[in-house]
Amino acid sequence: METGGNSLPSGPDGVKRKVSYFYDPEVGNYYYGQGHAMKPHRIRMTHALLAHYGLLQHMQVLKPTPARDRDLCKFHADDYVNFLRAITPETQQDQLRLLKRFNVGEDCPVFDGLYAFCQTYAGGSVGGAVKLNQGGCDIAINWAGGLHHAKKCEASGFCYVNDIVLGILELLKVHERVLYVDIDIHHGDGVEEAFYTTDRVMTVSFHKFGDYFPGTGDIRDIGYGKGKYYSLNVPLDDGIDDESYQSLFKPIIGKVMEVYRPGAVVLQCGADSLSGDRLGCFNLSIKGHAECVRFIRSFNVPLLLVGGGGYTIRNVARCWCYETGVALGIEVDDKMPQHEYYEYFGPDYNLHVAPSNMENKNSRPLLDEIRERLLDYLSKLQHAPSAQFQERPPDTQLLEDDEDQDDGDDRWDRDSDMDSDDDRKALPGRVKREYIESEPKNLAPTVMAIDEPSIKVEQDNSNKSSDQHTDMNS
Ligand SMILES: [Zn+2]
Repeated sequence: METGGNSLPSGPDGVKRKVSYFYDPEVGNYYYGQGHAMKPHRIRMTHALLAHYGLLQHMQVLKPTPARDRDLCKFHADDYVNFLRAITPETQQDQLRLLKRFNVGEDCPVFDGLYAFCQTYAGGSVGGAVKLNQGGCDIAINWAGGLHHAKKCEASGFCYVNDIVLGILELLKVHERVLYVDIDIHHGDGVEEAFYTTDRVMTVSFHKFGDYFPGTGDIRDIGYGKGKYYSLNVPLDDGIDDESYQSLFKPIIGKVMEVYRPGAVVLQCGADSLSGDRLGCFNLSIKGHAECVRFIRSFNVPLLLVGGGGYTIRNVARCWCYETGVALGIEVDDKMPQHEYYEYFGPDYNLHVAPSNMENKNSRPLLDEIRERLLDYLSKLQHAPSAQFQERPPDTQLLEDDEDQDDGDDRWDRDSDMDSDDDRKALPGRVKREYIESEPKNLAPTVMAIDEPSIKVEQDNSNKSSDQHTDMNS
């Protein structure tokens, strides 16, 4: 098995990257229910566009191996995973207590095939991380993933299992440092929380902040303990346009790449930050959104692209199709090819859509202040932290059905996992701002690094956070 081997061809950005694209043809059949904004059908629409634009032939198309219970339990609590596996629309009336406990029922409904859906989208992100770790591609794509709100023992914001955390945990087997960037309109709270106290993962989320779901992601939230300055939040207001967005994204991410020097990057490409989104309130064009992909790609670091939010589904498909082209280094035509969902894209049938004339509530001075504040945080990171590695844990073994090629006998071994349930790493509860300003007191060593011990956050009651996730501390 190859180790490392992730150095990418240097040179101009036109240089092609080897791309592995994870897609399960079943994923479009999962249905959250009537009236629900989250529509997995958008993944199938994206795939149809990729097929008819001729992009599939330029990448390795892989069907994800469903993540197993034990794979999900690398992050999630056993009882939560057991619940997700067992619950059905028919039995849910008898499980009201558990539904409430795990926040399943309303935003995160029980639907037919829920667990298989989770296994599929998580399998794509973990499979993408394995592929990158093996040096099998430069960029891995899983548009079905990116469900960044899921917590260790709780569903949230249409997300049940956190495929991103699971993918990052896989990348940490090979890479000392992993960067997570989130351009969904919502704060990437589940991922931030999972890695809030470690310096081995840096999270940077750009999101609408202020009276908006999930409510976290204040600029003052910067990580805790060893993780201080390794969580960054970029709070934005309604109507942000391409130019304003990039005036923050490029200097901040450019500086992060320079000082943090990640071995791999995960980019959550939530498309609810696009103009005209059913739930969003930003005003990005597809090109403006994709500029984030283009910029991160230009650093030639192994890259996992995942989806996320996106509720005007014709625009989601447009966006992720265009961004797949960016990943490949292929500029796709604005004129859309005929395909089975062509009627969704009328009356113009173009790939790109014009942003609206909505007001941009992000003033220049405010944007400048946000940028300077974040660059100031970054100036406090003197150097890229280094973890002590002894040996590389084995890859999560996922069977990959290559739809294009016969992969032969690349079979996975269900018994190869090294982590027993007993060593499953505990995750920090959310640490509120009040704690961040002072130096850590009752904080044990950091969390989430494969080779590091679990955290215990002992909060004294006088300071006790009202946050519902503090019970995540083990
Ligand atoms: Zn979102």
